[in-house]
Amino acid sequence: MRTLLYKARTEPAELIILNSLNHRMQLSKFDQQNYSNLRKGFEGELLFDSLTNNLESDCLVLNNLLLKTNNQTFQIDTLIITNNLVYLCEIKNYEGDYYYKSDRLLTKDRLEISNPLIQLTRSESLLSQLLHKLNYTFPIQGLVIFVNPHFTLYQAPTDKPFIFPTQLDRFLKNLNSNQSKLQDQHKKLADKLANLHIEEINHQQIPLFNYQDLSKGILCTECSSSITKIEGMKCICTVCGNDELVETAVLRSIKEFKLLFPQKKLQPTRYLNGAI
Ligand SMILES: [Zn+2]
Repeated sequence: MRTLLYKARTEPAELIILNSLNHRMQLSKFDQQNYSNLRKGFEGELLFDSLTNNLESDCLVLNNLLLKTNNQTFQIDTLIITNNLVYLCEIKNYEGDYYYKSDRLLTKDRLEISNPLIQLTRSESLLSQLLHKLNYTFPIQGLVIFVNPHFTLYQAPTDKPFIFPTQLDRFLKNLNSNQSKLQDQHKKLADKLANLHIEEINHQQIPLFNYQDLSKGILCTECSSSITKIEGMKCICTVCGNDELVETAVLRSIKEFKLLFPQKKLQPTRYLNGAI
């Protein structure tokens, strides 16, 4: 049996909302930074997905799980269930030079950023509690996987569960060399975890905004400029030249509106006609 993608990754709602707000209002420097970090993180996760998609050993992959146990929520970027081990992967898309010193992670300008091992240790402990509750005894291996080929960590310790870009290939080859077959209990665990996944928006990542302050209208799907021209059945972007069926663009914008204002009653003519 080949590797099975048990839970696919979709663009996080926080990222879709921030992208929309970035084009409809002036984000603060802080929110812009947060938006850019989220975008970069998501790109790193997609890069890792493109590698796990090619795995050929018998294992199950669950991407982007948000789970809760003992009243504590934790997020897992990628979970790989193999016959003898559950890999809990924290994906990092850091780029450039970093330093490791006394269990702290610093940028080249010596600014401290959160050590991903802290988050990994917490997730590992909570996942272990959850598996215990579900009556599973599979061992867990937590890993921080740095996917960006332009990442260097000076003074990297050798005793931490880090996988660096130059080691990724070996890590995947190692996974692929595992000939053991999965059993029913592995699939049942994957089912349970996928069912326990919570769809929840992290509102701390999103600035406060209200309807009146946002610029209205349909945004181009390619370059996010406001659409100002309609020809026949199509919306034409006068900035990048992209065209899209009006119907598709309207449905897309309704979805965006519902994500931004889940409580608000939809008045599409007011919202969508803003710039057209
Ligand atoms: Zn455009």
